Amino acid sequence: MITEYDAGNEKVFLIRRLIEVRFRKETYEELLKKYSKEQVIQFAEEKRVLHHATKRNLHYISRESQIPLLGHAAFGLIDRGTNLIQVRPLTGCNLCCIFCSVDEGRESRTKKNDYIVDPDYLLEEYRKIAEFKGGGIEAHIDGQAEPFLYPYIEELVHGLKNIRETEVVSIQTNGTVISRDMIDSLEKSLDRVNLSISALDGALADRIYGVKYPLRKVLETAEYIANSRIDLLIAPVWLPGINDHEIPKIIEFALEIGAGKRWPALGIQKYIPYRGGRKLRHVMSFRSFYSKLREWEQEYGVKLLLSPKDFGIEKRRRLPSLLRKGEVYFARIAMDGRGYGERIAVVKGRAVTVITGKKPGSGVRFVITRVKDGIYLGEEI
Ligand code: SF4
Repeated sequence: MITEYDAGNEKVFLIRRLIEVRFRKETYEELLKKYSKEQVIQFAEEKRVLHHATKRNLHYISRESQIPLLGHAAFGLIDRGTNLIQVRPLTGCNLCCIFCSVDEGRESRTKKNDYIVDPDYLLEEYRKIAEFKGGGIEAHIDGQAEPFLYPYIEELVHGLKNIRETEVVSIQTNGTVISRDMIDSLEKSLDRVNLSISALDGALADRIYGVKYPLRKVLETAEYIANSRIDLLIAPVWLPGINDHEIPKIIEFALEIGAGKRWPALGIQKYIPYRGGRKLRHVMSFRSFYSKLREWEQEYGVKLLLSPKDFGIEKRRRLPSLLRKGEVYFARIAMDGRGYGERIAVVKGRAVTVITGKKPGSGVRFVITRVKDGIYLGEEI
């Protein structure tokens, strides 16, 4: 579970393939004179804790940290008023896709910090929301991240499935870090994997994903999932002028390996430039997008135009929104924020992203500027 190595003048401990604990070598040697290695790793304050894939600061969110799991877009739980609850156990991705809507990966220009949520805390809070919403819930693990980097993914998936209200557990992934053992152990609790594959050509895949992409491994993983009890949905992002010729090949691949046993086999996504995401030159109109999907539906005899109903998603009462736009609060900054210039404050049991230059620990007066699906943004006044 822990490997150790030297990096320049630092001693590094890598825990569960994700959490890097770093010390200056001299400091570490000094601490070792008084404490055991385990004590140093766990308790010494002179350490830096980084996300192994992104090298950003990694913050651990547990019940003791007193950071609520509702209110922030990057971690915790999101209720958008349906029977699907988004479960976001960590941030940070090992890829750096040219189309990433949240500017993730090591080359991100906007992200400053990463977060990881304690699995027990996440499950306890999920249970409360699921009980509030009633039975037939889909727990969908996704995020501004590659969810399979979460070191407690198996615990999380099994825990979600064991909650009475959960009917379906699904997960979003880029497929690069899933092992066969993981699939075997998740088979009894995980219902569907939404796997993004946007090119079958190696050189193009490297370009699209912004890293050396393990195409062969991802394709083998896709096939292994399709042959398991877990359902597989292949979700390419269509990037006009870049991977147009790949989409028909991906449709054929999905059909060949037997994706889509209970749900649709393919979820082709339209590239949409988002504020804060990476921008591409060409954007397709919705009309051309849907018209081409219709054509491919005819050609391949497969359903490509999808709606929430195809996944059993229906409207449900949502958790009440406790904060309103325009309201003014004063709160202590509890944690550094996800992006530069952002901090996290806590109001009425909700995490609020506040735009301010003030440091964590200090108080800040702010106005709520945005409220959407229980996600809150404020600005210092
Ligand atoms: S895999 Fe997803 S989160 Fe990661 S960089 Fe690509 S689009 Fe962003």
